[in-house]
Amino acid sequence: MNQPAPLPAGLPAPLVDQFQRRITYLRLSVTDRCDLRCAYCMPERMTFLPRKDVLSLEELHDLALGFIDRGITKLRLTGGEPLVRRDMMELVHALGRKLGDGLEELTLTTNGTRLAEFAEGLVAAGVRRINVSLDTLDRETFARLSRRDSLPQVLEGLAAAKAAGLKVKLNTVALKGMNEREIPEIVAWAHGQGFDATLIEVMPLGEVEEDRFDHYLPLVAVREQLEQLWTLTPSDHRTGGPARYFDVAQTGGRLGLITPLTNNFCEGCNRIRVTATGQLYACLGGNEQVDLRAALRSADPQAALTEALDTAMRIKPARHNFAIEQRGAVPALARHMSMTGG
Ligand code: SAM
Ligand code: SF4
Repeated sequence: MNQPAPLPAGLPAPLVDQFQRRITYLRLSVTDRCDLRCAYCMPERMTFLPRKDVLSLEELHDLALGFIDRGITKLRLTGGEPLVRRDMMELVHALGRKLGDGLEELTLTTNGTRLAEFAEGLVAAGVRRINVSLDTLDRETFARLSRRDSLPQVLEGLAAAKAAGLKVKLNTVALKGMNEREIPEIVAWAHGQGFDATLIEVMPLGEVEEDRFDHYLPLVAVREQLEQLWTLTPSDHRTGGPARYFDVAQTGGRLGLITPLTNNFCEGCNRIRVTATGQLYACLGGNEQVDLRAALRSADPQAALTEALDTAMRIKPARHNFAIEQRGAVPALARHMSMTGG
């Protein structure tokens, strides 16, 4: 595991968990709301949180600065859909000022529907790379999958991101019987656009209407399918995330595979997640949590936050514990990905 250099003396203690993993990467959800309803992510009639429960702009800002003080160098804003939050760009601009001053990278994960409007603003704030989720290039499949007819906006958003100079990584959830056959086309299209492509296995998070087992597609099978078409060479490329990368000789692009269910990548974990209500989840696949909102709303927020983050380091588990084997099984975790942030 690559350990970053120790912080100079006199600064607040870096975040190191009980297994000596240095935590440098925070995924911060800024909203649980979304303009799409991807079937594997949330039900059509999703109940969103009351606004008073969601962290305010100031709270999100203070929280992020608190984390940067403790050695977080990479910050990913996510959701729900981060670009539907009204004051999102204000937050991005404020956090962008920390780039080069503790923060090395500010980025976001978005469904792309509003990128046409915001791509240039993101670049102006210092964002250089973004992840865009896109599970299909077929308009009808998109509408079925996300329950909204928004593919044209997403494609427009991607074009705007490219034109603004953002590096784009396309994230695609591999879904049996949905986009299974289309995966080579999506990867080839992404590479043709100059985007990286990453495939993700569906994870058992939160109740949705359909049984995810029906759509669970192990990436080992996808990899075999792709290897019939292309030469995949394992690459040393790392982004501080759990993806393992391959160079695709025929497309000249890079392909990432994230396999939380078939492979364990926990050993080198450097990340934590915070929900839009300020709940820190020490692991995407576990229930270990610390209430940072209570800390932020306490009489001495700074001291309370320090203590809460120390607690998080003590409870972060060694590894996650997902299982999707049984048909009809209850979700491994009751919370939706839109809550924890992807
Ligand atoms: N709305 C933004 C988007 O879609 O990119 C950001 C939040 S979304 C929850 C982040 C990522 O989580 C997306 O790439 C989405 O496909 C993925 N995701 C959501 N639910 C998932 C699940 N149950 N299993 C695997 N990935 C999931
Ligand atoms: Fe919204 Fe992203 Fe979940 Fe789709 S995956 S419903 S875009 S939060």
